[in-house]
Parts: sequence; C-alpha cells; structure tokens
Amino acid sequence: MIDLIERVVPLADQFSRAITYLRVSVTDRCNLRCVYCMPEAGLPWIPKAGILAFEEIEAVIAAAASIGVRSIRLTGGEPLVRRDLPQLVERIARIPGIDDIALSTNGLLLADQISDLAAAGLRRVNISLDTLRADRFAAIARRPGLERVLAGIDTALAAGLAPIKLNCVVMRGQNDDELGAFAELTRDRPIFVRFIEMMPVLDNVELQRDAYVSAGEMLERIAVDAGALVPIVGPGGNGPARYYAFPGAAGAVGVISPLSHDYCETCNRVRLSADGRLRLCLFGDNEIDLRTPLREGASRDDLAAIFRGSMYVKPERHHLDLGKPASAMRALSEIGG
Ligand code: SAM
Repeated sequence: MIDLIERVVPLADQFSRAITYLRVSVTDRCNLRCVYCMPEAGLPWIPKAGILAFEEIEAVIAAAASIGVRSIRLTGGEPLVRRDLPQLVERIARIPGIDDIALSTNGLLLADQISDLAAAGLRRVNISLDTLRADRFAAIARRPGLERVLAGIDTALAAGLAPIKLNCVVMRGQNDDELGAFAELTRDRPIFVRFIEMMPVLDNVELQRDAYVSAGEMLERIAVDAGALVPIVGPGGNGPARYYAFPGAAGAVGVISPLSHDYCETCNRVRLSADGRLRLCLFGDNEIDLRTPLREGASRDDLAAIFRGSMYVKPERHHLDLGKPASAMRALSEIGG
C-alpha cells in the first residue's frame, strides 16, 4: 500500500515546495482569551453543524496522505476542548502514509488527557505558555490556570513525549522580562522554548504595534539575561523557527519571526479550518471549501484532486507589517494557528 502511495507524484506547489504537512483545526472554540488572539467575549463560534465531524477530517487527511502529506498537527481554537479527541488521533494513526501526529495546546486540559492521546498515537506536543507567573497568566490569558499548564508540561514529559516545545508570544511590558527565565528552562530539560513575534490580527493591532518585540531583540536580551547562545540545528522538520542553545543544554531556544524575517521559501504546509476550508497560507486570503464536496460525497481521489488544484493558489510568500492586520486575516483560533 505504502509503495503504491509513494509511486504517486507527491503534492508540490507551483514554487516546487513539497507539501507534506497539514495542520488541522478541530474547533474554533477556546478556554482562554489571550489578549493578542481573541476578544474577551469570544468570537461568533461556528455552529456545531458547520464543524467537520471526525469521519470528515479523516477523509480529508486520507486524501492528503494519498498524495504525500506525512505529518498532521491538531490545533484550534483549543483542540482539547473538542470531545473524544483521542478517537480522532486513533483514526488518523491508522491512515497509511501518516507518520507523525502532533498537537498544539494551551495545556490546561493536557494532564487529564495525555495518556489517552499518547496511547492513541500522538507523538509530539507543543504547549503555548506566555508567562511563568500566575498573576500575569491571568492577565494575558484572561483566565487563571498556570498551575494546570505546568502540570500538563510535566505529564507530557513523563509520558515520553519529549522534546516538548513551549510557544511563548513575547510582548513588551507584559512578559519580555521573562525571556531569560524561559530560556533557563532549557538547560536541564528536553524543552524547546520558541519565542514568537506577535502578529497583527483582528483588533489587536494597537497592542501589536506597541508590544511587538523583534526576534533579534529577543536573542540579544536572552544573551544579556541568561548567557550566550550558539546556533544549532533544531529538532526535525522544516518549521519556521531558528534555534539556539546554551552549550551543553538539554533543550534549546527558538525564535519564530513572521514579521522581521520570513521563512516562506521552506513552507511545507497547508491548513484545514474547523469548518472545512483548506487555507493555503496563514496570512493569505486563499481558502478552498472542502466541506461542500465532502458532504456531497466526494471520493478520496476527488478530494486529492482539489488538493492538487489548490497548489496553484498557494502564495509564494506572506507580507506582514507592524500594526496592520493582514488582508482577510481571520483569528488564528479560526484558522488553526
Ligand atoms: N490553543 C492552542 C494553543 O494554545 O497552542 C492552539 C491554537 S493557538 C491560536 C496557536 C498559537 O498561536 C499559540 O501559540 C498562540 O500563542 C499563537 N498566537 C495566537 N495569536 C497570535 C498572534 N497574534 N501573534 C502570534 N502568535 C499568536
């Protein structure tokens, strides 16, 4: 079966980038309200009937896998608020060709669910955490929960899901004085802390303009606060982060810089939104509706043909400016950030 799959011409876009990675948003809902991501009152949620069922997500992934997609990341919104997620992981793990299933989570519900997820076939987890201080956590995420996230990190390490990646959005005046403390976590634990430049989305544009810290500044501040870092090759994959480490450290520090640098030439990914739209670039407005064909009975090959056709509208690169939301930008929670 795998031989057959590999004989098919793998998915690539018109700039010869192989597309091997699909990020799947399983819900647009979230149990946090991070200041840079979602309004405190939430967003108009997608009605339940509009959200892809597990069978539908499985059908899309099977089609993608049949033409070369190998890695899946479940995201959201907060994926762990979607009921019975381990059942979806189990379905995906059975799809021929899929060899990596990962999860992006805020970690609040992780300690409760990690053993079922790992047993179902989850291989890796990224946890978002912007501060190590409980009072700041409540201010940034607008919900309490630091202790639960920290417990989630420990449980994921204990479940053998190393290395854990921690994603931290850096904001001037809110958590930028914790860069050194986060970096210190990597000295004796297999943790990769990735500092992310804040992106302009929805109504965060003023905050973004005022609080934005560039990746270059982040690295300089870490060197001053915690010691010199050396560039390293990061943990597998073709991701957007550039990695650095303290000599001899168990983990590493990464920076993700959608504004100050871009990494589009190595882009290997597309996204599936919770309501079944194929999104070709996080920031572009090119989306293709897969839900309608799915619900009209499209076969695996039909869906694969739509994937191939979509490659012609995958943009070459994105462009972001300080304080200006990208055109047609949806909340990252809707797209699957
Ligand atoms: N709830 C999951 C989580 O917390 O990882 C998955 C979805 S969340 C939208 C994915 C990532 O996007 C998180 O690391 C979050 O911090 C990041 N994010 C959301 N809005 C952002 C923004 N405006 N700029 C940079 N990163 C952002």
